[in-house]
Amino acid sequence: MIARATLGALQSILGEARCRTDPATCLAYSYDNSRLNHRPDAVVFPEETLEIAAIVACAAKDRIPLVARGLGSNTTGSCVPILGGVILSTERMRAIREFSPEDRLMVVEPGLLNDEVQEAASAKGLFWPPDPSSSSHSTVGGNIATNAGGPRAVRYGTTRDHVLGLLAVDGRGRVFRCGVRTPKSAVGYDLTRLLVGSEGTLAVIAEATLHLVAAPSARLTYRAIYGSYANAIRAISAILNHSPSPSAVEFLDERALALIRSEIPGIPAQAQALLLIELEQNQPFTPTEMEHFEAALDPGGLLGLERAEGDDARTRLWKARKSLSPALRRLASGKINEDVVVPLSRLASLIESVAAIGARQETTVVTFGHAGSGNLHVNLLFDADDPEAIARAGSALREVFATVLDLGGALSGEHGIGLSKLPFMTDQIDPVTLDLMGDLKRLFDPKGILNPGKLLPPGV
Ligand SMILES: Cc1cc2nc3c(=O)[nH]c(=O)nc-3n(C[C@H](O)[C@H](O)[C@H](O)COP(=O)(O)OP(=O)(O)OC[C@H]3O[C@@H](n4cnc5c(N)ncnc54)[C@H](O)[C@@H]3O)c2cc1C
Repeated sequence: MIARATLGALQSILGEARCRTDPATCLAYSYDNSRLNHRPDAVVFPEETLEIAAIVACAAKDRIPLVARGLGSNTTGSCVPILGGVILSTERMRAIREFSPEDRLMVVEPGLLNDEVQEAASAKGLFWPPDPSSSSHSTVGGNIATNAGGPRAVRYGTTRDHVLGLLAVDGRGRVFRCGVRTPKSAVGYDLTRLLVGSEGTLAVIAEATLHLVAAPSARLTYRAIYGSYANAIRAISAILNHSPSPSAVEFLDERALALIRSEIPGIPAQAQALLLIELEQNQPFTPTEMEHFEAALDPGGLLGLERAEGDDARTRLWKARKSLSPALRRLASGKINEDVVVPLSRLASLIESVAAIGARQETTVVTFGHAGSGNLHVNLLFDADDPEAIARAGSALREVFATVLDLGGALSGEHGIGLSKLPFMTDQIDPVTLDLMGDLKRLFDPKGILNPGKLLPPGV
């Protein structure tokens, strides 16, 4: 419970309207997209960097947990205030502070939506490459803190590759600036890259300098359907080594196809895998380029191929992918969605292994996602009212993670660790590395107030 004096101090920084303790507000900020929840004692709404610094200093003085929050769209419980304390919402910090098309950078406040960045950048023929499907309801601060990615990570990498610098507040309330405004730099430790993906446990991001990229002038989308996983995976390796190479390669397994077959015409009964592929470049695609690319897409077993150029036609092909999340929600009351990643050469083994785990544990497994980056969403579906089904899904999850690590992969490709993957951190990260991570945490946040209980296992 937050002390009256601490609350008084926060209210004197922000005024009562921006420091809320009423039950309705605390309830609204108690959960995120993971559906885990715990009520905070207060929710604060800073409007500038110095207010963030004063809030953090106040929380540090009284050792009050403080959790930064964008829009709560993360899937791992990483902004649930499990120890109570204060939620620091960035939703009133949505300004673009600077936009320099010449330098291909934009300086923004942390609460700006990803879509708002894209809209402003597109006016000058630029874009910010991180493209999570949640772009309309996730913030730059949240994207940076989780190192968000999306389909185009195949070509452009993830958020970490497109943040030049940060203005942030450490766990003592000290404001610091790291990074640069230039395309390259070689000065000291790279704290910017360290803060990306740190899930609000090292510092609160108050401003970000984003690296923008020229938008391609020509785009093509393909939908390719295969009779076997093996052929779909063979096609992925062929097109990744092709020129032009794809910017996105999305995969849907046969259970995913069964879910959307009634909504998406043209998926044959014997289809086992579907790929959605995006090609982009700065001059129109020639007939020869298209012909060669389409040949690479067919290593054998291709059951259907569609190409789309205009925006409407491309949106129609992407519908197969976008219909999946709502369809999954209709299928089962319980869902565990993990975003594991493996080296590309092990993708086929992962797909086959998770199907076998599902059969063994009598749990429906639907797999789809960013295959071009080796990053698949493995969805374990179960009856949330059946304790035995829940236990079987838990066993399946442990087997999936063990398989991923055996294949040389990682627990998360884009969603992060938060609370939900915490029990598995020690399976992937060795004790010395965990120790170093714990030392870094203590250096940035000596009192352990920033998003406590997340990302690092207890005792680290
Ligand atoms: C429908 C849907 C689709 C999605 N698709 C994708 C996808 O394609 N790719 C992907 O990567 N993710 C995806 N996600 C997950 C989620 O949208 C991302 O993790 C996103 O980056 C979270 O942004 P947010 O603003 O909602 O952050 P929140 O959920 O509010 O917070 C996430 C983490 O960031 C920290 N944080 C937030 N702001 C700050 C700050 N200013 N300073 C320090 N720490 C901060 C929080 O403490 C927390 O640890 C999806 C989610 C949904 C619901």
